[in-house]
Amino acid sequence: MKFVIGNGFLTDGVSKFWENGAILIEDGKIAQVGDTGAVRPKADEFIDVKGRLILPGFVNFHHHLYSSLAVGISPVGPTRNFVEILQNLWWRLDKALDEETVYFSALAGLIDAVMHGVTTVFDHHASMNFVRGSLKTIEDAFNRLGMKGVLCFEVSDRTGPGDAVAHIDENIEFFDAHRDSSKIKGMMGLHANFTLSDETLRIVAERRPKDMPIHIHCGEDRYDLEFCLSLGYDGVVHRLDRFGLIDDRSILAHAIHLTDRDLEIIRSKDPIIASNPESNANNQVGQMDRTLIQKFVLGTDGMSNDMVQTLRSLYLLGHGHKEDFEQLRSVFFSYRYEAMARFFPEWRPLSVGAPADIVVLEYIPNTPISLENILGHLIFGAKTAKAFMTVVDGQILYHDGKFKGIDLDEAADGIRKAANHLWSKYFAK
Ligand SMILES: [Zn+2]
Repeated sequence: MKFVIGNGFLTDGVSKFWENGAILIEDGKIAQVGDTGAVRPKADEFIDVKGRLILPGFVNFHHHLYSSLAVGISPVGPTRNFVEILQNLWWRLDKALDEETVYFSALAGLIDAVMHGVTTVFDHHASMNFVRGSLKTIEDAFNRLGMKGVLCFEVSDRTGPGDAVAHIDENIEFFDAHRDSSKIKGMMGLHANFTLSDETLRIVAERRPKDMPIHIHCGEDRYDLEFCLSLGYDGVVHRLDRFGLIDDRSILAHAIHLTDRDLEIIRSKDPIIASNPESNANNQVGQMDRTLIQKFVLGTDGMSNDMVQTLRSLYLLGHGHKEDFEQLRSVFFSYRYEAMARFFPEWRPLSVGAPADIVVLEYIPNTPISLENILGHLIFGAKTAKAFMTVVDGQILYHDGKFKGIDLDEAADGIRKAANHLWSKYFAK
């Protein structure tokens, strides 16, 4: 398969920019990048994007696809604080999930993600009454659409002592089975410090293959920090580090309530910090301090599948200084590329030989656009990441409102049935 996508503004947001650029894609990889005039003759098939914006595919570094069928659902009790939000909504929902609803939750979320130009999702999954095989079920949804994913099950002691061992087994089995996959990978999911005993962390540390990174909610709410301090640790990251769990492929979501000791460990071990500004606003847990943590990437934490809107929210909820734009550029572009390459070593933006993961935004700039003002165009022009075209490993998953390889009506039918089934279980318990 050989084709050219061209006649659009093409940029990696960091150093490469073509006003009328094109990409030659061959056998799933990027074969050439440059001016449309030079690249277009290299293939018979030319997809004319008519002045739209072409970018490397978006990545959601912290997501919960299992939340996709919860849109509009009401909590079953008060939600006055973070722990009550978990107890009366999310933990009730994740107990109601079964094989069918896990699959259709993932499919619903991923369809929306593809429509927003997301090419890779780091998913943090929980379905406490359907543990074994749950990650494979989610993988089936990724494969049906052709998406890249890094999956894990959230290990937790919250459903009772001993349950965590099954969660750990599910993670390790999936991780080992996907060591050689260039598309789907596994991690060791951990819920959060405050639902994990020292004994469970000890088992995780002992059983985890040394190259298997963790993905955890870390310092999301003040309660998480207080829990760690009460056990005698110097912070939320410090506790994980004491069990040898922090390295440069760990994903720490949120990182809001931290100690100086935590920040020191973050600086020295360089884990991937995934900030989720919309979720943090929704749960009213505060926002990550971008003056203390400058290097981070973006997740949606189940709030949406839209990475440009998440960037816009980050900007609006932050300090809003113009000089912020350089930090936002790194967050949205260069740190994303660096973090992706830690999991997918061949992954480089708009580079010959790299996997062709590309988004063409449904956005045609009306005003001058350059490398310098690309952030302004995303935040104030595009505003959301509605995609015209989404390409993963050189496969066109979505183009001009149509999915390739999936019947959207049939999928929507299954999704709606699954949602009804899930809601009746959620409210019945
Ligand atoms: Zn989360």
